[in-house]
Amino acid sequence: MAYQTINPTTNELVKTYPDHTDAEIDAALDAAHKLYKSSWSKGPIQPRAAVLERLADLIDARAEDLARICVEEMGKLISDARDEVWIIAEIARYYAREAEGFLAPKQIETALGEAWIEHHALGVMTVVESWNFPYYQLMRVFAPNFAAGNPVVAKHASIVPHCATVFEELVIEAGAPKGAWTNLFITSSQVANIIADDRVVGAAMTGSEGAGSAIAAQAGKHLKKSTLEMGGNDVFVVLDDADLDKALKDGVFSRLHISGQECICAKRFVLHERIAGVFIERFITAMASVKIGDPMDEDTKLGPLSSADAVGALKKQVDRAVAAGATLALGGKPIEGKGNFFEPTILTNVTRDNPAYFEEFFGPVAQIYVVKNDDEIVELANDSRFGLAGAVFSQNIERAKALASRIETGAIWINTFASTAPELPFGGVKRSGYGRELSELGIKEFVNQKLVLVSSG
Ligand code: NAP
Repeated sequence: MAYQTINPTTNELVKTYPDHTDAEIDAALDAAHKLYKSSWSKGPIQPRAAVLERLADLIDARAEDLARICVEEMGKLISDARDEVWIIAEIARYYAREAEGFLAPKQIETALGEAWIEHHALGVMTVVESWNFPYYQLMRVFAPNFAAGNPVVAKHASIVPHCATVFEELVIEAGAPKGAWTNLFITSSQVANIIADDRVVGAAMTGSEGAGSAIAAQAGKHLKKSTLEMGGNDVFVVLDDADLDKALKDGVFSRLHISGQECICAKRFVLHERIAGVFIERFITAMASVKIGDPMDEDTKLGPLSSADAVGALKKQVDRAVAAGATLALGGKPIEGKGNFFEPTILTNVTRDNPAYFEEFFGPVAQIYVVKNDDEIVELANDSRFGLAGAVFSQNIERAKALASRIETGAIWINTFASTAPELPFGGVKRSGYGRELSELGIKEFVNQKLVLVSSG
């Protein structure tokens, strides 16, 4: 697939980027591997931390420009794009300041003598990333690997080449040495060749189950470690004692955030039967009245989907759900005219034999389920092939905490949704993936946690 910027608001082709050749890939791997073998990777962390601090400052200085590039390329709202740019600078600063402590030797009490764990860079990493957070996805894998001393060769999604290019430019401008981060416009088979290459030690991927399965299989075949961040069909639970105004406001926002194209946004609304009637009525009204339009307009609440293909795929998925018995309570189709707009959509009566029950809808499509009690909530939430995240709304925090512990996901939010911060780990279980990004856990994924033991004997 060609690497192209096509503005999703208008569907106009802005620019096509040339693919990288096999020779360029080889040169990138060579530079990365030489860097890994150098004192940059093995030496003290402070020079790498200083580059991350400079990178954060450069991002802050160019924030508005970066946000606008992102809106033009994948169509998220300008306010969301600004938030994304803000958080990537925070992630760079977080690892600049905290990585030294995370990677310091850790003593272990043992009867066998003096023992400790050292943390060392592992080698060249490859990463394959998704377009929905076109900078955040890159920073989540760049900052911890850079701090740890792992050079990275990166394949970004083919619909966000401008974001991929400016990210690489910023890293270089911040003073990163050649090979520390190389952006490559390449195909899936070239990714497979990179994973197979002896100079590469691991792969991290964010994206769909299909891509995750392919990358995990290639990594497994060549006995290399992988981490996968994939999709979800996250529950948004509203208990009978919830603050309904807040749950409603957050639910609408979460389902429509990034035009519904967020891995951790509310997808299955699970409502206690005592509040279901009133919630559904108000939810339909609120979803029906959001302002849809130009993502550059500060008042817009729902922008376009990322591509024309995404609109077609979502329409087919909604049609399939309805054909299998679901009821359309709102919307259900693309909006006619320019750009990749899709109506806010609500599905009810989704039974277990409907394919929609197990699927992720990557767009502004909510499913509604009504349950009788907390046990039914747990049963429904866990009756999923995914296990990424979820939210529980209740004014009884102990009840919400008890539910959170029983739901099989990588994260649960109580009385909020999809909150992320550099210090909070991010990742899923089941078909949502394995491994964690961000926080101390994220930097530990791709370091050698080496035991050293001095015998007391
Ligand atoms: P996708 O089609 O899998 O694309 C993701 C990346 O994988 C792109 O760079 C894509 O390249 C590449 N790719 C696709 N097939 C590949 C293969 N066989 N070998 C190597 N690379 C391959 O995913 P998407 O539809 O763009 O992204 C949406 C999915 O990502 C959703 O399921 C969403 O929930 C998930 N997601 C998860 C997280 C998380 O942190 N858990 C965060 C964001 C998104 P091309 O663009 O060139 O096809």
